[in-house]
Amino acid sequence: MHEMGIVLNMIETVEQIAAENHAEKIGSLVLQIGELSTAIPAYMKECFDMAKEQTILADAELIIEIIPGNGVCQDCGKVYNVVKSNAKCPRCGSRIWECVSGRELLIKEIGVYET
Ligand SMILES: [Zn+2]
Repeated sequence: MHEMGIVLNMIETVEQIAAENHAEKIGSLVLQIGELSTAIPAYMKECFDMAKEQTILADAELIIEIIPGNGVCQDCGKVYNVVKSNAKCPRCGSRIWECVSGRELLIKEIGVYET
């Protein structure tokens, strides 16, 4: 489960940003995770809940947005969801594609806790 390393890195990043902005508590954290990224959202959530204790994120809610894993067919140019289509172009059947979206693993938004 390499998600723990990713989560720890993210918490560190959030703590840095919070310190720079003099925020004392974080209420929510929005992550964007692509379907083709190596992070599994359910594990991310689990690791986050374990790792957030004793940090500025202790009371923060984790919100995960899934970015569809889209690819463009290198034979006919069709853009399709490679996860749903099993990496096979629904138009021409080609299996050669290039990633358009879905490899994201980003912090999209940090919500400061209002007291
Ligand atoms: Zn195609």
